[in-house]
Amino acid sequence: MIDDTKKLSNPQVTIETIQKYGFQFQKRFGQNFLIDGHVIRKILRAADISKEDTVVEIGPGIGTLTQYLAEAAGKVYAVEIDEKLLPILGDTLSAYDNVSVVNRDILKCDISRLIRGEYSRDGAPEPDMTIGEESKARSGAERGAEARAEAGTKAEAVNGIDAKTEEKVMCKIVANLPYYITTPIIMGLLEGQVPAESITVMVQKEVAERMAAAPGSKTYGALSLAVQYYAYTYLAANVPPNCFMPRPAVGSAVIRLTRRAKPPVEVADAAWMFRIIRASFNERRKTLVNGLRNDPALGISKEQAEEALQKMGLSLTVRGETLSLEQFASLSDLLR
Ligand code: SAM
Repeated sequence: MIDDTKKLSNPQVTIETIQKYGFQFQKRFGQNFLIDGHVIRKILRAADISKEDTVVEIGPGIGTLTQYLAEAAGKVYAVEIDEKLLPILGDTLSAYDNVSVVNRDILKCDISRLIRGEYSRDGAPEPDMTIGEESKARSGAERGAEARAEAGTKAEAVNGIDAKTEEKVMCKIVANLPYYITTPIIMGLLEGQVPAESITVMVQKEVAERMAAAPGSKTYGALSLAVQYYAYTYLAANVPPNCFMPRPAVGSAVIRLTRRAKPPVEVADAAWMFRIIRASFNERRKTLVNGLRNDPALGISKEQAEEALQKMGLSLTVRGETLSLEQFASLSDLLR
């Protein structure tokens, strides 16, 4: 245990640590470190961390949130991309024997293997499953559908079941996320069969609002539908820029995503539904019919789109932002 006044959440301790190591903040890695113990306690409460839990922290930075996680959780795996932070973490986390720091890009990290202790800080082979690498080539929804389809055959590898012990290894993911890759990280975690009960993260306030938004609200869009298909959302706290060093230009918020046991809607082809959803929000000020027919890859004519809306009892000038997930599921089944 480290006394709270000596933890990195005390801004003076953070400044001293950064000066001691001559550390330079890297904008390209989204480095805005927390300097507020109240905010960190709110994150821990929202994530509901106890000694029973294995926690994966994405981007420990100099270890500010990690110090609290180490004291609250049974085991912490902290995945950090910036190797310059490793000596600092070795120092700031030296009081804890339940933290493993892993120098990796989280987008290329197989979390099932991570939480079975298969990666060490150095020397471990590259993981063979990634949470985000493929997204450049294929859409997130397509990957999600494939992962679900494969889940039957790859359950042992992808659902965190240790093949040797047959024990289910689950984790909670907690992070003050680098804002430049928030969406790929969140969608990778939700769509891949990552063995995480919940994901509690600090993100840009506007992104948190988009994830939790209900139909008809200003921020409702494709991200709201994608996140809510996989998880329940809970907005836990708003966090102002002065809780970070350096201060970000935007406000932040803590959001918890709790994985659903099964999706809230039944749909014949989820990947197709997410293509329909994306097209419907592509041109926000246009009607849904125009959004759909203006996406040549879908091959949907104006007449087909109008006929489907009529069958659903919806206006032909309806906009995407008013449709619920249930309605998008019906629409995508009608347009198959
Ligand atoms: N957790 C620390 C805190 O709250 O003070 C630091 C949070 S800072 C917003 C984001 C951290 O994520 C940085 O340490 C950054 O180097 C790290 N990071 C950025 N991209 C990453 C990636 N692809 N994989 C793992 N870590 C990454």
